Amino acid sequence: MSTLLELKNIGYSYHSLHGETVALRDISFQVRQGEFVAIVGPSGCGKSTLLSIIAGLLTPELGTIAVNNPDGTLHYPKVGYMLQRDHLFEWRTVYRNAILGLEIHHMLTPDRLEAVNRLFMEYGLEKFRDKRPSELSGGMKQRAALIRTLALDPQLLLLDEPFSALDYQTRLMVSADICKLIRAAGKTMIIITHDLSEAISLADRVIVLSGRPATVKTEMAIKLSIQDDTPLAARNAPEFQQYFNRLWEVLTHEA
Ligand code: ADP
Ligand code: MG
Repeated sequence: MSTLLELKNIGYSYHSLHGETVALRDISFQVRQGEFVAIVGPSGCGKSTLLSIIAGLLTPELGTIAVNNPDGTLHYPKVGYMLQRDHLFEWRTVYRNAILGLEIHHMLTPDRLEAVNRLFMEYGLEKFRDKRPSELSGGMKQRAALIRTLALDPQLLLLDEPFSALDYQTRLMVSADICKLIRAAGKTMIIITHDLSEAISLADRVIVLSGRPATVKTEMAIKLSIQDDTPLAARNAPEFQQYFNRLWEVLTHEA
């Protein structure tokens, strides 16, 4: 698989009247086309800052982000962002929420709307088009939020602790469901989570960050022998506990 993104020696600080907060220091890693990368690290270490830099919302003070598209061009991949909670607006129907991104970007073209309709069918939300978000289950809301994100046809999906508002059981189901749909859509994904088990069960590779300023402590490729549809199956794979223990050690060991 070819490299989509390459971060080299990224550094970032916030400046305020009270001084400087160094958030990221010397962050380097690559993301391959179609890969799922999970980023874990202590709260406040700089994970959201890093994602904002990858999204192009913040400009790094130091270092570079290189992009290599499969067609040889160097334009930045189109990025879709999914945040904590689903951020669906209650005053809009589910369908009007799903097309909100298209509306904002003036992209309400027939083929985009057709793609949205297809996703409503595929994701079993057809009957809920005209409902309000509060009438949907947590899992259906996340699916609707995913449609809104995919409607813009991003190449790279950035998820910032997207399931943290859900209770544990719902989260197991919904996270597996959403990631499966993102894989089926052929997208590349970077997901931030503070849940190590979630990272191991969803990602092809886990990157562990240190406390602030965040640096890359380790990267670990994940290969589970059980490839199953149920979220619990991955967690029962014999390698799961080993990955967990190794990553836990890195995560909790302060240099
Ligand atoms: P995480 O997502 O890992 O919890 P963040 O990237 O949100 O961490 O924040 C990293 C550090 O930068 C924190 O100490 C936070 O207080 C600080 N920070 C985040 N945003 C700002 C900002 N806009 N101005 C100043 N400091 C900020
Ligand atoms: Mg954060």
